Amino acid sequence: MGRQSLSELKWRSYFLEETPGDKQVGGRPRQNPGVCWSRVKPTLVPNPVLRMWSEEMAETLNLEQVDGQVLGGNRLVEGMDPYAQRYGGHQFGNWANQLGDGRAITLGEVDTGPDVLELQLKGPGKTPYSRFADGKAVLRSSIREYLCSEAMHHLGIPTTRALSLVTTGENVVRDVMYDGNPAPEQGAIVCRVAPSFLRFGSFQIHSMNGDRATLKRLVDYTIEHHFPSHSSESDDGLLAWLDQIASETAIMIAHWMRVGFVHGVMNTDNMSIHGLTIDYGPYGWIEDYNPNWTPNTTDARTGRYRFGQQAQIGAWNFARLLESISPLFDEPERLYECLETYYNIYEEHNRSMWVQKLGLNEFRDTDSELIQNLTTVLQSVETDMTIFFRLLCTLEEPNIAHLKSAFYDTESIPVEEWNAWLNAWWTRVQGKPDRTTMQQANPKYVLRNWMAQLAIDAAEKEDYSIAHELYELLKSPYDEQEEFEEKWFQKRPEWARHRVGCSMLSCSS
Ligand code: AMP
Ligand code: MG
Repeated sequence: MGRQSLSELKWRSYFLEETPGDKQVGGRPRQNPGVCWSRVKPTLVPNPVLRMWSEEMAETLNLEQVDGQVLGGNRLVEGMDPYAQRYGGHQFGNWANQLGDGRAITLGEVDTGPDVLELQLKGPGKTPYSRFADGKAVLRSSIREYLCSEAMHHLGIPTTRALSLVTTGENVVRDVMYDGNPAPEQGAIVCRVAPSFLRFGSFQIHSMNGDRATLKRLVDYTIEHHFPSHSSESDDGLLAWLDQIASETAIMIAHWMRVGFVHGVMNTDNMSIHGLTIDYGPYGWIEDYNPNWTPNTTDARTGRYRFGQQAQIGAWNFARLLESISPLFDEPERLYECLETYYNIYEEHNRSMWVQKLGLNEFRDTDSELIQNLTTVLQSVETDMTIFFRLLCTLEEPNIAHLKSAFYDTESIPVEEWNAWLNAWWTRVQGKPDRTTMQQANPKYVLRNWMAQLAIDAAEKEDYSIAHELYELLKSPYDEQEEFEEKWFQKRPEWARHRVGCSMLSCSS
């Protein structure tokens, strides 16, 4: 079958048909108790131009390439019924009450045959949930979302996807570092794709508002459409459903830890009910292996969402989801079982992650010490996580001299400590680490902040070549791709150490 046009896709609106919604269409930001969504149309933009297009996502949708008009929000096609979702969330540990899609509008759901996928524009203008903001997105953050979500997919990490990136031909004013220096930036819109954009906060809002009826309808809907093997009619059914969410969330975070990804804003409104990495904002990649690092300057002081704390935060967030579903339980104390599931699954995957990263073949009790010692010595001086693990895959003798290029200051390598650890590892694997597994677990290429920034700097001058190059590179992150080694298998360059967008990011997008 040939590719279809947008209007030939099978558009569906199950969410609108089966959950309670707002009577009013569009309109000013307001509190909307009792509803799951509000219909709203994208705002017209002056000159939408398609800049990036994911051929793979298009193939999944069986969609031919389209121009910027629809994906920039200027034109709707028959079958689309756009809306913004209402949800709440805990932000940095505090209940923020109603948030909702302030800068996202779902165009509709597409039935692809095997799946139903939601297509959502990020940055298409105000919705009833925009609060005090403009509902738009800038090119900088749109490139970061587009490239990273596709890169995560190819790393084998559950994530929302991206179909397209359109520039709007309009300037949007942002104060990047919140320091009183607002400046105009190019506006852009990413079309992102997922089974749904339901978050933990989608359920929390009804529960926190004491609205059991709406909560029940949303849970029934979610289970029927997205988790059909479970039932919402009994404690047992709900527990099995929540166990699945526990498990998928834990697995997602174990993957983040494997590749050095830091989400940056793990608020409960940014936790997908499908265990997908969602809402790419001030995320970052660990370069120097520092568990206390966070790319998000807004969180720099407390480090709530720092690299090394993501698993615990996942548990905290999941506990908030459990609380929010508890009104539907006859015996809510049973919900503790699900938290156990979360911890157990995380532990299991954390172990197998280390087994894979170190080529151990199987986990032995004594390996805990080996791993502990490794994470300690990795932190002794600035050491590049990605390069270290990748070079380890091909190490032929336990001598740190061969891993020199992973260090930021080669003069200060603690040689003795390193050689002691390498010898312990070498003995453990009997000189024969499982190299194939290691190469599948330790990517050679990740989207380092400075790489994204180079793509952004060029794109802001209408040159998308770097963005396209990175997109292609990151389709095969575990492959050698020698032709790119010199350029992209590199530690953070000195210019990026203190540059906004590289070492410092904010939620401003
Ligand atoms: P985030 O930190 O990106 O998860 O966003 C938190 C909340 O703020 C969500 O409800 C967003 O939709 C909303 N938000 C963020 N940026 C904007 C914006 N430019 N316009 C409207 N709402 C926004
Ligand atoms: Mg968000």
